[in-house]
Amino acid sequence: MESLRITLDQSEIPTHWYNVVADMPTPPAPPLAADGSPVSPEQMGMIFPMAILEQEMSAERWIPIPEPVRQIYRLWRPSPLIRARRLEEVLQTPARIFYKYEGVSPAGSHKPNTAVPQAYYNQQAGIRRITTETGAGQWGCSMAFAGQMFGLEVRVYMVRISYEQKPFRRSMMQTWGAEVFASPSSMTQTGRDLLGRDPENQGSLGIAISEAVEEAAARSDTSYALGSVLNHVALHQTIIGQEAKKQFEKAGDWPDVVFAPCGGGSSFAGVAFPFIADNASGGRNGRPTRLVAVEPTSCPTLTKGAYAYDFGDASGFTPLMKMYTLGHDFMPPGIHAGGLRYHGDSPLVSQLYHDGLIEAVAVPQLATFEAGVMFARAEGVIPAPESNHAIRAAIDEAVRCRESGESRTIFFNLTGHGHFDMAAYDRYFAGQLEDFEYPQEAIRASLEHLPRL
Ligand SMILES: *Cc1c(COP(=O)(O)O)cnc(C)c1O
Repeated sequence: MESLRITLDQSEIPTHWYNVVADMPTPPAPPLAADGSPVSPEQMGMIFPMAILEQEMSAERWIPIPEPVRQIYRLWRPSPLIRARRLEEVLQTPARIFYKYEGVSPAGSHKPNTAVPQAYYNQQAGIRRITTETGAGQWGCSMAFAGQMFGLEVRVYMVRISYEQKPFRRSMMQTWGAEVFASPSSMTQTGRDLLGRDPENQGSLGIAISEAVEEAAARSDTSYALGSVLNHVALHQTIIGQEAKKQFEKAGDWPDVVFAPCGGGSSFAGVAFPFIADNASGGRNGRPTRLVAVEPTSCPTLTKGAYAYDFGDASGFTPLMKMYTLGHDFMPPGIHAGGLRYHGDSPLVSQLYHDGLIEAVAVPQLATFEAGVMFARAEGVIPAPESNHAIRAAIDEAVRCRESGESRTIFFNLTGHGHFDMAAYDRYFAGQLEDFEYPQEAIRASLEHLPRL
């Protein structure tokens, strides 16, 4: 009988992360201070431990995964690669569809892949506390779990609107021992200023980042942790693509195209970057594997943003990073329920896109939920709304294969389950969600506030 679930032994968990910088045709543009001068390691050292800064700047192809991190990974890794046979039948497609299921982690998404090593390196550096931000709560949960594994205190600044609308994510963080504050909060100067101006401020990811960074910079026993965007985060996530490559070898198959949802870009980087190593030498199918980042039309960073230096947060606390951006004061529309709302994108993903080594596509919200429901009914797993973006693109590709009669291997990253996102599904079923194409005019206005160097 053909197996649907391609598993690996725990001894096959990769021993190294893959650093795509080693295979990039253009070296990554360095982060800059607001005045355009290079950022010094001392400045970054105020919020990150040295081991993480080294990874952030490394050009080494292979970086060893510390044994204590592999120990924790063993709680849920290797994650399964699953053939979506029933979805193929529903779509009547000659394509073979596979997905890597990252929802098996304790927090229910791919994010613990980086939260765990970040907690480890901080503990090794003698750090006792970690501050971070969370939007919908996925990252906060992952960091709370990882902090607990290594005995660190974790403080999470949670975007106020999510804090109020997603109480169960907050309960999860508290169960893993984290402190959670609605952001803007009265804990930081940033928060107090904003609340002084508007006590009803609903918060944003950019504001929450500012609060977490402000606290970490002010205390020597405290570091900051970011769940996406940065090079070391992309690096840690490459465990996904490396496992997938071993699983495809086992299955005697190889992807022609890879899809992943793209917010800050870590899940895309994780699944796609390891294939860039093969693409650099022509690809294993005799042609390169296409690597496609899938984003929402309401936050179309790669497909409609500018490639420019911009701040990572709303208040301009972070260094400037060269990335595709919609402008750091971009505000995603309230109607958007599918996540992936960050204004910028990973500098590595951005540079690879700029150099034409990867592709990007934007999909509208209703089509993503339609895809998620179709997937759940065929395959059982109820995907996170973010994951639905990749599923939409995979289904569209499978339909194109049906029309052209081509048999291709389609692979996507099912980044997490949707068990805490059922309110978004409810809104979809009730017809309360709409498509929203972020207007070119509004993007232009927001891009006018890009820092001038
Ligand atoms: C955070 C998250 C994403 C997006 O990851 P980025 O690194 O921001 O691109 C996708 N899917 C799930 C389930 C997530 O929690």
